[in-house]
Parts: sequence; structure tokens; C-alpha cells
Amino acid sequence: MKNTAIYPGTFDPITHGHTDIIERAARIFQNVTVAIAANPGKAPLFSHAERISMAKQVLCNMNNVKVVGFDGLLAEFVKSQGTSLILRGLRAVSDFEYEFQLASMNRHLYTELETVFLTPSEQYSFISANLVREIASLQGDVSQFVDAHVVKALQQRLQRG
Ligand code: ADP
Repeated sequence: MKNTAIYPGTFDPITHGHTDIIERAARIFQNVTVAIAANPGKAPLFSHAERISMAKQVLCNMNNVKVVGFDGLLAEFVKSQGTSLILRGLRAVSDFEYEFQLASMNRHLYTELETVFLTPSEQYSFISANLVREIASLQGDVSQFVDAHVVKALQQRLQRG
């Protein structure tokens, strides 16, 4: 069993679906590192620093979980952390094709690398950060899908336009 699992993603913003996966992983692995990708190509709503700060606030009570930012190739980042284990979430069959391709590519780039998939509780299986941003931009209530800190950040960001 590896000690540290790296959970990479954009987390724009962190949702209850992400947190559910992190809680499950924290019970399996000694340490979980939530690795927030800069991902400028995806033109995130929140800056890299904001996404890191929100995730830190949401996860602050979880002792064996840390949040870090990274830029560049995930395989290189995982290697730099002295581990070879990536964690990803699978919601539905629609996630599978992309996740399968990503896992295969990452292993191609770093042979020892393994990707472990966890599924969320059913009540979170339909949440995506994309939908949360879209609902919030239309003034819909997202408080069932994200932490109160994130609700506030979304309101502030979207009010500022
Ligand atoms: P990325 O841009 O890398 O896909 P995301 O922040 O959208 O970043 O997602 C990070 C990981 O979390 C992905 O593996 C995604 O499938 C998973 N994920 C996102 N939302 C959920 C959810 N509601 N339940 C379980 N896994 C999820």
C-alpha cells in the first residue's frame, strides 16, 4: 500500500462531490494530497490562488489531507512528491472514456504510476463544478452542492461580473 495518494484536478470550485471522494480516500490512504492544477487553458472562473484557498478552507478539519497547487505535467508533479499513485473520481460512464485515456497517458509518461478510481455517494454523483458555476451564474441555489465558503465566493465573483 502506498502512503500518499495525489488527487489532481481543476477544482473550479471544490464541490461536495470532490470532498466525498477525498473523505473516502483519507480513510484508505495514510495521506492524501489534493493537487490543484493551474490549468490556464481551461480559463477557470477562480484564480489558481483562489481555488487553493477555497479547498484549504473546506478541508481544514481533515488531518491527513493537504492542499497544494501545481503547474505543468501531472506525471512530473506526482514523481516530485515521491509517490506514484493518482486518485480520480468516477461519476458515470460518461467520465470513463476521458479518465481511461488520462490514466493510460499518465502511465505512459511515468511507468510506475497507477490511477485509483473512487465513486461518490449517490447524492453527489451528478454534481460537477461546471454545473455549479452555471447554476450560480443564473442566480440558482448551489448551497446543496458546495460548502458555504464557496457559495459566498461564487456570489461575490458573479456579482462583480
Ligand atoms: P479536471 O479538470 O481534472 O477534470 P475536476 O475538478 O473537474 O478537474 O475533477 C477532478 C476529479 O474529480 C475528476 O476525476 C472528476 O471526475 C472528479 N469529480 C468531479 N466531480 C465529482 C463528483 N461529483 N463525484 C466524484 N468525482 C468527481
